[in-house]
Amino acid sequence: MKIAVLPGDGIGTEIVAQATKVLETLRSDGMKIEMEYAPIGGAGYEAAGDPLPDATLKLAKEADAVLLGAVGDWKYDKLERNLRPERGLLRIRKELNLFANLRPALLYPELAGASTLKPEVVSGLDIMIVRELTGDVYFGQPRGISTLPNGEREGVNTMRYSESEIRRIGHVAFRIAMKRNKKVCSVDKANVLETTELWRQVMIETAREYPEIELSHMYVDNAAMQLVRAPKQFDVMVTGNIFGDILSDEASMLTGSIGMLPSASLDQNNKGMYEPSHGSAPDIAGKDVANPLATILSVAMMLRYTFNDETGAIRIENAVKKALAQGYRTADIYTDGCNKVGCNAMGDAVVAAL
Ligand code: NAD
Repeated sequence: MKIAVLPGDGIGTEIVAQATKVLETLRSDGMKIEMEYAPIGGAGYEAAGDPLPDATLKLAKEADAVLLGAVGDWKYDKLERNLRPERGLLRIRKELNLFANLRPALLYPELAGASTLKPEVVSGLDIMIVRELTGDVYFGQPRGISTLPNGEREGVNTMRYSESEIRRIGHVAFRIAMKRNKKVCSVDKANVLETTELWRQVMIETAREYPEIELSHMYVDNAAMQLVRAPKQFDVMVTGNIFGDILSDEASMLTGSIGMLPSASLDQNNKGMYEPSHGSAPDIAGKDVANPLATILSVAMMLRYTFNDETGAIRIENAVKKALAQGYRTADIYTDGCNKVGCNAMGDAVVAAL
């Protein structure tokens, strides 16, 4: 298993260090794991003047899977857009053709009290959000800020999806739902946006190949509301890039903290990049308080989706459950009576449980 490790910026280095401890433990148990490190984001800019240095991209292309921390820091906000850390992330997703982003929102029973929602609303929650990752308004052309003839500035982004792009993410969602409760809710804004009107049509056509799947549709504004009103109605949600970005962050709060949410981004052949759903959290970077569990759970997803090792994935997930059951909590998921630990100690607790 050749893994490219890209810690990135902010808390990225701290949380990835905990995930690699887990990988090293698996290696000492006999798994054939090779890890090689490279900079990305602000770290890439500092090292090579590029948020996605050529050497990093080469390493990521040659690896079987990529483990990423997070990118970004406010200090880079003044850089030209192409040099900003986030561009490195968008580019690596595009270069590796990682079009399918899987974000599970799963509530661990021990954390029901850490959610801002009532325990009866969230307990037993298990949603998989499937977000399209390489299209939509984040990539559509034309884009940019220009000056109109009257001297006023204008900003433009373009929402676009081709039929084949919609169909392939539809297949991913339907195949995942077949292994779960066979329910897919496709989220769009078909009443206002033509792009998503096509999205809905193609989802309906694609669903015909999966007669056992119950497909429903929801406008994104309603979906945002339903996620906090009655989130357990959802099994698999499938949506485009921008709606998925926002809804998956919203869903993270159902689980107590964005620090609990792993993600996988896959290509057509299940090669994947695995990363926590959160960002580089510059506000807490370097303080040893970040929650590393989303990153550790991303390693479990890596074993499941790229290396087809369900047993290994469950082993990591059980180790996380055990550390939580033993009362270990980072600050973001802490409730009274638990044992508050830092990022490093939480990593150690998972390794000990493993
Ligand atoms: P963020 O996700 O970094 O942080 C949002 C809030 O959640 C902050 O209060 C932070 O302290 C907290 N948080 C995030 N991860 C946590 C963890 N593991 N443990 C405990 N608390 C955690 O989002 P932001 O503040 O909007 O963005 C900060 C930077 O991250 C920006 O430069 C942004 O562009 C970048 N970003 C990167 C990614 C990515 O790399 N995938 C995603 C989102 C944002």
